[in-house]
Amino acid sequence: MYFGSVRFFKHLIYAVLSLIIIVPTVLCIIFGIKYKNADNDAVLAMQEIESLKTQETKPLTEDEICSTIKTEGYSSDNILKAFDRNGINFRKELYENYYGLSDVNTYQSLYNDLYTDPPASFTVSDNTVYLTFDDGPSKNTRYILDILDKYDIKATFFVTGNETPEGIEILKEIAERGHTIGIHSYTHNLNVIYEDVDAFLEDMDKCRKYIYDNTGINPQIIRFAGGSINNYDRFVCQQIIAEVIRRGYVYYDWNVSAEDAQSGADWTSIYRNITSQMKDKNRAVILMHDSADKYNTVLTLDDIIVYLKDKGYSFAALDNDVKPFVFEYLK
Ligand code: ZN
Repeated sequence: MYFGSVRFFKHLIYAVLSLIIIVPTVLCIIFGIKYKNADNDAVLAMQEIESLKTQETKPLTEDEICSTIKTEGYSSDNILKAFDRNGINFRKELYENYYGLSDVNTYQSLYNDLYTDPPASFTVSDNTVYLTFDDGPSKNTRYILDILDKYDIKATFFVTGNETPEGIEILKEIAERGHTIGIHSYTHNLNVIYEDVDAFLEDMDKCRKYIYDNTGINPQIIRFAGGSINNYDRFVCQQIIAEVIRRGYVYYDWNVSAEDAQSGADWTSIYRNITSQMKDKNRAVILMHDSADKYNTVLTLDDIIVYLKDKGYSFAALDNDVKPFVFEYLK
């Protein structure tokens, strides 16, 4: 009989002892490793700081500590943690400069007029169409303004920096006739403006200033030249978009395109593009162009408006609280 025998009690004692010893040991090892990995960098960084601080030569400046630690390659979080434990009042900005993020700080502190109040929330209006015209002002803008007036429609113009006397006159007219003016790009030179965030902001600020100086309007919305994600900005678009949003601007891509910037676009293609893409749409931001060579857009606009009115849509100009259509980074 095994149960109750001396052998049984011997085995029971072994089992209990091994549970008492082995389980805590295993747990200690697991958590020890975990803690060690998590804090290893911090400990190393802390030691490094200590040794740097106690060198016999003149005390190191914060600046010198950063540059030494940077070459050791510790992770940013752990270095900051280590500074904190050492009671060093560490300036994060300085550290970030050393970690190659200096341009973040630079561009965030530049262009101090390039700010606007973001909307408290977005609104969605059913059966509404927002006609938008990019790349003007040009002589075609006037024709478009007349057509819009004929139907008492307000629209949105994302403008470029046309500094000719005529360009400035037309820009003013867009504002006087009650339409929304948004920033597009001052130069519309995609190679240059999408080189980095700084280049983008410089151009955007110039466009803002062009609008403000000539109309007194501080624009609140923007359409990125080429759309928010394009072949020129794919490596910087996320930073650019984040910075534009941080500054309070709302950006609008589109969900219907006239494709009128394509070569060979004519009445037929523009009309067909818009009417076919409008199918089953409850609301739409329509992309069109009012640059000097887009006369076919002018020719088609009247018929597009009639078509959309017949379908029961209302027209409105964009305001920064209109919920935007934006391209998704990955679909
Ligand atoms: Zn454009």
